[in-house]
Amino acid sequence: MGDRLPSGDAMTSAFPVLAQQVGGRPLAYLDNAATTQMPLQVLDAMRRFDTHDRANIHRGVHTLSQRATDAHEAARARLKAFVGADERHELVFTSGTTESLNLVAQGLSLPGMPSGGGEGALQPAWLRPGDEIVVSALEHHANLVPWQLATRRSGARLRVVQPDAEGRLAPEALAPLLTPRTRVFALTACANGSGERPPYEAMLAMARDAGALTVLDAAQAMAHEVPALASLACDLMAFSGHKMYGPMGIGALVGRRDALDRLVPLRLGGDMVEWVSQTDAGFAELPQRLEGGTPNVCGAIGLAAAAQFIDGVGRDAIAAHVEALREHAAAALSALPGVRVLARHAHGSAIVSFVVDDVHPHDIGTVLDGRGIAVRTGWHCAQPLLERVAHGPTTRASFALYNTHDEVERLVEGVAAAVEMLR
Ligand code: PMP
Repeated sequence: MGDRLPSGDAMTSAFPVLAQQVGGRPLAYLDNAATTQMPLQVLDAMRRFDTHDRANIHRGVHTLSQRATDAHEAARARLKAFVGADERHELVFTSGTTESLNLVAQGLSLPGMPSGGGEGALQPAWLRPGDEIVVSALEHHANLVPWQLATRRSGARLRVVQPDAEGRLAPEALAPLLTPRTRVFALTACANGSGERPPYEAMLAMARDAGALTVLDAAQAMAHEVPALASLACDLMAFSGHKMYGPMGIGALVGRRDALDRLVPLRLGGDMVEWVSQTDAGFAELPQRLEGGTPNVCGAIGLAAAAQFIDGVGRDAIAAHVEALREHAAAALSALPGVRVLARHAHGSAIVSFVVDDVHPHDIGTVLDGRGIAVRTGWHCAQPLLERVAHGPTTRASFALYNTHDEVERLVEGVAAAVEMLR
């Protein structure tokens, strides 16, 4: 555990929501893959904006509007630096990973005017009949369903890289799917259903070499293992604020300008145009072109504060801590009779997802809640993956920097008690 990680009282004063009892016990919040909690630093940054600078951006000459615009752009710059973007890249604010991935899949499969209107002629969609889109079987529905629709709209074909029996994804499994027809390869940086961390660096590089546009769903990586964008063969990367100690309803699509330039804007209206006549419009440059309407300015400021918070604590310290908790939990849960941990071998993950013979995950979750332990149960929006590797829904505990080894012990005791009671 890193020296800079606050502990005990310091942690509960930094994260006020943690200082409460549930079921007569101190809350053990182990549902961080769904949503992490926010530290005071983030809450304060948002409160400062809303109580001092709140105004709409871009359209105003008045002081508050200018302050709000500056704060929004400063947030963008901080986040670009945080993810290791360079001058080839741009960052578009979205409501989160789901919107980011929909913008990519729809923006590539709809006819439209990707790089500015004005000529009046609709350009054909970038994806064409006969093209192939490759995704993995580890994906969250947000990185699968938009591609399913994209193939139907465009006449392209969806191909899926399969994991081995333990849920591991190997570069060798991708190789035969990459052909001259492959136009997109979309992959998760960590599977939220199983906790598997695929070798995405190598797989993105293979797909890029094959000529595909590469998309990384980094939702489960940003809180502890921030992918360094400029060093990856990654064209577009999506993430959410609420999974990295930031607010809900904000996230980003960050990537190469030439890849973002291919996307047909989905949010047409104010702030994304240069000029408008009664019958036509010319679109603005990136990133505004993809950010139509009033953005979540307060959210962007909170998200940048979350990035600053992560850097202040230290990414390596956070990663080492959550990985140690995951290893502790995976080892102890696997030792319980009838319990099977998915992706037991995984490294670089903060998620432990497991099944118990003859016991439904919802029942385990309910028993744990009675002991003040918050976990998630069900399909985790990754039904195809769980059908394959778990043959049903799972119980999932997921860790953040504020969790402790004592909480892991409580989890394991709670699961053992639930199994005893329910089997
Ligand atoms: N991808 C992954 C891997 C996720 O874990 C999630 C959230 N569970 C999403 C995408 C969707 O994120 P959001 O709900 O913030 O849009």
